[in-house]
Amino acid sequence: MFMKTADVHHVLPPRRSAGTHPLTVVFTRFATVWLVGAFTFVGLATWPGLVPVALAQQSTPRQVTVRIISRGNPHLPEITLTFDDGPNPPYTSRILTILRHFGIEATFFCIGLQVAAHPGIVKQEYAAGETIGNHTWSHPSLPTLSAAQVLSQLTMTSDLVEHSIGVRPRFFRPPYGALDAQVLAQVKRLGLTTVLWSVDPQDWLRPGVTVIISRVLAQTGNGAIILMHDGGGNRSQTVAALPTIIETLRLRGFHFVTLRHPVADLNKSAGALAAEAKQRHDPAPTPQSLFLFALGLQGEEDKFLP
Ligand SMILES: [Zn+2]
Repeated sequence: MFMKTADVHHVLPPRRSAGTHPLTVVFTRFATVWLVGAFTFVGLATWPGLVPVALAQQSTPRQVTVRIISRGNPHLPEITLTFDDGPNPPYTSRILTILRHFGIEATFFCIGLQVAAHPGIVKQEYAAGETIGNHTWSHPSLPTLSAAQVLSQLTMTSDLVEHSIGVRPRFFRPPYGALDAQVLAQVKRLGLTTVLWSVDPQDWLRPGVTVIISRVLAQTGNGAIILMHDGGGNRSQTVAALPTIIETLRLRGFHFVTLRHPVADLNKSAGALAAEAKQRHDPAPTPQSLFLFALGLQGEEDKFLP
């Protein structure tokens, strides 16, 4: 995922008189957010989907920057599939099979409890080249927790993922997209990058395969980060929708990338990113996949799911 880092343009001076103002914030594009509490911060979106947030501690003038990403570079046809709440058999493995069929990679935001229950699936994900992100230990709404509890939720999950695959997650996605200053402070402390999304078909509500497909196709543009779910329940609709989604978006010229890119990429110019994209080639659609696409793929799930 190619993303552009925007500079922090404004930082509030430290405040000492502020009271606690518990507030759950779902960051959206171009959102400007004020929170007054243990921290005071301003989020100012200067790039679609990217909300740079400056944190100014009350008692010191030290400033830290929190990067919150909800989409990539809008000038490039790069998109990212993300799957939350797993690992969750049998759906995670079915998604891995589909990704392998199309020769693309995705990002899985895993729940610690699920990793503990299914460590082998996380190893399969990582071995297949997927990026593993931190989605907390037990999927709470983090702003309802104490700082120590937030830290525990994140650390326990990262520790277990590292124990399973040998690598600590770099990316974090808050359950329900719920964030506040206290949560962001812990995320910053752990060096995680917060990733939200720009496309949400609400597949977890199981609206039907065709609805999931149509929502994703309607919402996806350059730099999209697509939110779907491999865990949290029966995800057969998500699995069934995936081949058509991938095939159609690929035919529209999009490239599938994961969030696993060096931080340096975030600061590259649009010109440099375009040159790199030109050199990169996603595998071309095969005659078989084009045939299945022409059929509409509904009911063809078994072709992908041994
Ligand atoms: Zn979730």
